[in-house]
Amino acid sequence: MARINTSALWDQQHVLHPWADLSTLGEEPPLVISEAEGVWVSDGEGRRYLDAIGGMWCMTLGYGRPELAEAMRRQALRMAYYTPFGAMANEPASELAARLAAYAPGDLKRVHFTTCGSTAVESALRFVHYYFGATGRPEKRHIVSRVDAYHGSTYLAASVSGKAWDRTFFHYENSFVHLLSSPNPALRKAGQTLEQFCDERVAEFEQLIGELGADRVACFIAEPILASGGVIIPPPGYHQRMLAVCRRHGVLYISDEVVTGFGRLGHFFASEAHFGIVPDLLITAKGLTSGYQPLGAVLISERLLEQISGTQAAGNGTFTNGFTYSGHPVACAVALANIELMEREGVCEHVREVGPYFIERLQELRRYPVVAQVRGDHLMACIECGDGRRLDGMPSPESIALAQRVDVLCQAKGLLVRPYENMCILSPPLIIERQQIDEIVRILGRALEEVTC
Ligand code: PLP
Repeated sequence: MARINTSALWDQQHVLHPWADLSTLGEEPPLVISEAEGVWVSDGEGRRYLDAIGGMWCMTLGYGRPELAEAMRRQALRMAYYTPFGAMANEPASELAARLAAYAPGDLKRVHFTTCGSTAVESALRFVHYYFGATGRPEKRHIVSRVDAYHGSTYLAASVSGKAWDRTFFHYENSFVHLLSSPNPALRKAGQTLEQFCDERVAEFEQLIGELGADRVACFIAEPILASGGVIIPPPGYHQRMLAVCRRHGVLYISDEVVTGFGRLGHFFASEAHFGIVPDLLITAKGLTSGYQPLGAVLISERLLEQISGTQAAGNGTFTNGFTYSGHPVACAVALANIELMEREGVCEHVREVGPYFIERLQELRRYPVVAQVRGDHLMACIECGDGRRLDGMPSPESIALAQRVDVLCQAKGLLVRPYENMCILSPPLIIERQQIDEIVRILGRALEEVTC
């Protein structure tokens, strides 16, 4: 107890958290999570919470898995680290690359390891710039992303992120980054069908390429489902049609599967299995290690690498991108153990089984008048509070306050959901069972009822 209080105090005095609200910096004691087991976390004062956000979309196999801890221990003792630069390899990273290549769609057989999702996004974009430079087209460098996207917190990854809320006093690259409109079907005009809405979004992309010139557009980057932007599910066929536009104009397609990959939608990778596309580059992180170690990876098309490698093509080319901890052996060892457990326990099959139940049960919450929308796919979902209207990309202050009250009430009742704008975002560990889903719905229902009164 004393230890927890000291941690809270030190945190208040010395820690600047990601997405810290500076207007109240250091004022409120944080919730110190000190122990965790399965889908439960506890604050060390005897209060237990069902973790309906899976840490940060990442705790896929749940907490306290001895197999994952043991994999880390074994590798740390055997060989904790050696440089990944140049021609140096380590066994877990090599094996993991082979396992990822086997699960990857199409010819995404080459793996560039990074340290997290942001560095994987940054590296994918840098690879694209390198590729066009090395093939004699350095002017082909414009990057197309979307409003409401979230791709990370490094400079270029933040620049290709398009959430209005997140754009603050930082500088963003805008000379070669372009944001298309959000593919959120809720933004359809009155009377517009989903097909017409999709046509409009695809036409906007075509038009932008026309304006910039196809010889200047390098790539399109997209999350299959926009996760942190509020679990936004684009209209049916959107990704296939955007990929077709890319193919027509020689633009590369980067699929950011930091959230949708590793089981959240019931597949190791969702791009092909769930959305019917084979991208040119695919990004993974988070569930790759089930959150036990930081690790990210970019899977790259062999077709692209063939054009820039080998003595003929590459000349003196060196791909000068990477990190001290790229493909860290301890992180890769836990990723291998994670894959083994996912296979042995049929985690993807389990998600395909409970995912529809999760969404179906959450839909019941639409009966509360404070709920504007419930949306989701398998184990990623979102409850939007208030009237659902947005002005300049932002919800009303009243709807934000409403969602915050729901979050606080849920926490008091033993459920952690992720507050964001006017939404409660849900991404429980993939091992969640039906009765725990019922518990999430029950607590959310009680919180929504209380804010309605
Ligand atoms: N891409 C997506 C789709 C994400 O949701 C995130 C993080 O939430 C990132 C990239 C960045 O990952 P990280 O926080 O590991 O740097």
